[in-house]
Amino acid sequence: MGTKTFAIIKPDAVKNGYTGKIYDRILQAGFNILSAKLLKMTNEQAEGFYNVHRERPFFNDLVEFMTSGPCMVLALEKSNAVAAWRETIGATNPDEAKENTIRKDFASNVQENAVHGSDSDENAEKEIAFFFTDAELLTN
Ligand code: UDP
Ligand code: MG
Repeated sequence: MGTKTFAIIKPDAVKNGYTGKIYDRILQAGFNILSAKLLKMTNEQAEGFYNVHRERPFFNDLVEFMTSGPCMVLALEKSNAVAAWRETIGATNPDEAKENTIRKDFASNVQENAVHGSDSDENAEKEIAFFFTDAELLTN
């Protein structure tokens, strides 16, 4: 299992003032933060990042949401990072998320769901490289 995953504190969470609380949850869950930055995604970035969902009915709304305001992108490290982070954030739809997960506590709905998490080691590598250069990642 890989040791890295990619996270986003999404525009809804930043707008709602949850950036610090979610950052703290990340640390409390035992992740090392290898890099983090605030940015406002361009249309091109959001479309590229979610390219796998291009044919889904929610794609255009998702791109509009992800470009609606600043977000924080993060490269995270922990053993079994992808599964550990998915466990920490909870189900895509906050109505289905377990107690004490980030989405249960901070998400508004299935679209504005506070955070992103990679779904595989392969995608984690790709997503980290999409937003960070190697030089921006701490090597410990
Ligand atoms: N999404 C949405 N409507 C849906 C499903 C997903 O707006 O019915 C959005 C939501 O923001 C989600 C993102 O699209 O986080 C990517 O969907 P995915 O199924 O990959 O969920 P995730 O991996 O983020 O849990
Ligand atoms: Mg996904």
